[in-house]
Amino acid sequence: MKGSVILVLVVLALVAQDRLAGGQENKLYDYTKYHTMDEISGWMNQMERENPAIVSSMIYGQTYENRNMTLLKIGSNSTTPKKAVWMDCGIHAREWITPAFCQHFVKEILGSYQTDPKVNMLFKNLDFFITPVLNMDGYIYSWKDNTTRLWRKSRSPGTGNCTCIGTDLNRNFNANWGMVGISRNCCSTLYNGPTPLSEPEAQAVTDFLEAHQNQLLCYLTIHSYGQLILVPYGHPNISAPNYDELMEVGLTAVNAIKAVHGKSYKVGTPPDVLYAVSGSTMDFARLIGIPYSFAFELRDKGHCGFLLPEDQIQPTCEEAYQGAMSIINYVHDKNFRGSAIAVTATLWTTLVASWISSANVF
Ligand SMILES: [Zn+2]
Repeated sequence: MKGSVILVLVVLALVAQDRLAGGQENKLYDYTKYHTMDEISGWMNQMERENPAIVSSMIYGQTYENRNMTLLKIGSNSTTPKKAVWMDCGIHAREWITPAFCQHFVKEILGSYQTDPKVNMLFKNLDFFITPVLNMDGYIYSWKDNTTRLWRKSRSPGTGNCTCIGTDLNRNFNANWGMVGISRNCCSTLYNGPTPLSEPEAQAVTDFLEAHQNQLLCYLTIHSYGQLILVPYGHPNISAPNYDELMEVGLTAVNAIKAVHGKSYKVGTPPDVLYAVSGSTMDFARLIGIPYSFAFELRDKGHCGFLLPEDQIQPTCEEAYQGAMSIINYVHDKNFRGSAIAVTATLWTTLVASWISSANVF
């Protein structure tokens, strides 16, 4: 009897502690700070727990160090077929502003879909597949100490005689692999790996994109720095069939970014505005037929570079959010033209009804 009372008390104490921890976690998550991988994983669980009807998580691979690669799937349940948008951040470990952006993006869409008819419509027609930290092993290593802060690559060991660690995941994809903008020296930050898709992270993303290629309308990969919106391809001798449209959509995004805090971004292919590159995710996504593929290079232009101070997290994310949303809205509206009008009418009716009911509140 005494034993069972103690057991009940222990269980109650554990439940209370769990509630308290959950409450603190919710309150304290700070989007204006950089977070460790553990904190980001906890945040992903929190997003799922707080929005069970809208958010689920999916494990789609393992990193070299056997961590689960997990994405958040965000969208409303639908009886009609949906399209999808992919977004990844943190493929390069040291680009800490990019996981911060993916988290900001998720916070914004989850915070607005119930009140913003446009986001609500996106949730009805699209699923968002969002990976906040693609290169988890590298990201964790970049948090180790000051000497590892600028780590870029994965953490797999070199092959053969080479003793250096890591492959540049954004050179390892099966998209003109090994042709330009890479290094065959495994000690280089631009090492493209022993073979295409040698890295489990690149293989996992490839498998997911190929399995969903008919569903995916838009591929967004977030990098820093340079204030650029890149369009395919990274190889100077090939051009995307919808290059003109991609440039136009990119320019609209740049204008949306500038309108927020006045920052200037440039649009173009990597060889036109940065440097030629092969084996990138953006090129791979376009090559397999995902029509709208873009890479963002967030702030800044080199003054702080990868060490962007935390006080720039919020403005950087605010402007990039508007840029990303301008692309997503374009892609959505083009593909759901018919339903967009009907849904807009319904949403306006709902909105007017909610205005009328909320009038009592004020
Ligand atoms: Zn990068």
